[in-house]
Amino acid sequence: MSYQSDLYQQVILDHNKNPRNFREIEGHSNSCDGYNPLCGDKINIHMQINESGLIEDIAFSGSGCAISKASASMMTVNMKGKTVADARVMFEEFHKMITGVMEPQPGAHHLGKLTIFQGVREFPSRIKCASLAWHTLVCAIDKTGETTIE
Ligand code: ZN
Repeated sequence: MSYQSDLYQQVILDHNKNPRNFREIEGHSNSCDGYNPLCGDKINIHMQINESGLIEDIAFSGSGCAISKASASMMTVNMKGKTVADARVMFEEFHKMITGVMEPQPGAHHLGKLTIFQGVREFPSRIKCASLAWHTLVCAIDKTGETTIE
């Protein structure tokens, strides 16, 4: 196993076992229920976005496979303190990375440690598991209520 895929496994296991921001936000400003029928993953995102578009708090709940949970956990860690505009840029970059459209070169993106998820390319059936939390994030920002990824 390569170093990269080894690291990928470790991070997924860690975040699945100890998910960060796994809770609900009382009186949240934004929320969305996301569903991935392919795997059965259900992720709910709660956000507190202030008037200037800053993400003050973000949390997730729900149930799903290790990849969907680890992806949601890492996404919330990286989103706190960012703006809604940053979140949209990161969603685009994350999506391009996991689908192989973009090679995550150091310094050329805003993904930081999230580049670990490029490992999901080796498992095409799990791409939707990794992207569910992100689609749900955009849905919460846009307040479209719920999203099912096809
Ligand atoms: Zn899944």
